[in-house]
Amino acid sequence: MRWKTTTYSGWGNHLRATGQLARPEKTALLAPLLADEPAPAIGNRRSYGDACLNSDGRAIDMTRLDNLIGFDPDSGTLHAQAGVLIGDILDIFGPLGWMPAVMPGTGFVTLGGAIANDVHGKNHELTGSFGQHVASIELINQAGDIETITTETHPDLFRATIGGLGQTGVIASATLRLARCPGGTIAVSERRMADLDAFLDAFHGSTATYQVGWIDMGARGESMGRGILEEGSPAEGRFAKPRKLRAVPFTLPGFAINRLSVRAFNALYLRRVPKSGRERERPLRDFFFPLDRVLNWNRVYGKRGFQQFQCILPDETAPAALREMLDLISASGIASPLSVLKRLGPGRAGMLSFPMQGFTLAVDIATKKGSNALLAS
Ligand SMILES: Cc1cc2nc3c(=O)[nH]c(=O)nc-3n(C[C@H](O)[C@H](O)[C@H](O)COP(=O)(O)OP(=O)(O)OC[C@H]3O[C@@H](n4cnc5c(N)ncnc54)[C@H](O)[C@@H]3O)c2cc1C
Repeated sequence: MRWKTTTYSGWGNHLRATGQLARPEKTALLAPLLADEPAPAIGNRRSYGDACLNSDGRAIDMTRLDNLIGFDPDSGTLHAQAGVLIGDILDIFGPLGWMPAVMPGTGFVTLGGAIANDVHGKNHELTGSFGQHVASIELINQAGDIETITTETHPDLFRATIGGLGQTGVIASATLRLARCPGGTIAVSERRMADLDAFLDAFHGSTATYQVGWIDMGARGESMGRGILEEGSPAEGRFAKPRKLRAVPFTLPGFAINRLSVRAFNALYLRRVPKSGRERERPLRDFFFPLDRVLNWNRVYGKRGFQQFQCILPDETAPAALREMLDLISASGIASPLSVLKRLGPGRAGMLSFPMQGFTLAVDIATKKGSNALLAS
């Protein structure tokens, strides 16, 4: 197996690494690759920052190890190699009545990456984090030893591996407990939220399975924190045929994302939902992975890329802290068309997992003058 020196980056294209990558096609090649020097596994590099980068070192790209190993249709238990994409699991098993219990906002994430970041979805309050649905993990440590670990056999190692950013070894495969998938659509209700208080109240009052909010980060004064709350419940509509994906053909100039273009985008985005709200059924992929319809959408941020700020705030401190952050970001004038507010429950499967009870705000910030200062403030 050959190592190839490559320059690569995470999804934000903000930081780059130059190092050696190997892309094995067989699990048997993993242990020999680890023999000479430590090499973390990386997935499909959908982490925004540097979690998937190893500058001046080696990393094992797991995306070719994407075979399904076994499936029990009675219990919905799936055994798959770590490079399988979460969106592919949805496409293959949805029509059979099963789907991943937890899905992040893109289907281009690998099974190994979803475990290593203990990702959360739009249903975190009810369903918990990804790792809570993992029954076992086949882990290869730096000495090349392969072990199958579970909460019963290796409780500490298992909890350190889930959300452990690949630091306990290479996840070669995992067994996942899938959830029931009643049909090919989600019944979605979309409502405009007038301001932050209305948003937080609506989240508290929502009983929907899936909940996600888009915030207009440019809005100031009385309408600060306005946006759209999407609530969804599984429905029994037909499974849609895969859509042709569009692509951003080249990296746009950095100035394409600016105060004016973002304000125009936000105004249009808000108005796409009528004042009275709307109800509709959407294909699973469109609801779970709305951004995946445009490949390489990260190119709109230009060569310098962007960074994602994400925090989680307990219920008690969320209103005041969110208000302060919205104020800072909107006053900075640093454009941020993609800003997401979600409510999370207490579920977390790993020692270092991100989720806890409260509200999480994620804001994409184009890399430009003032962006680092804003992130540091
Ligand atoms: C559009 C978009 C929406 C997103 N929405 C959400 C969301 O709603 N919720 C959420 O939680 N996250 C979300 N994310 C973040 C994403 O889900 C995580 O960063 C995820 O870990 C990326 O998986 P990956 O396969 O691309 O892994 P990479 O980004 O390549 O790697 C991530 C980490 O996992 C480790 N890793 C990967 N594979 C293995 C393996 N086989 N063995 C051991 N360690 C491994 C790497 O070392 C690294 O530390 C989103 C990202 C994007 C781009």
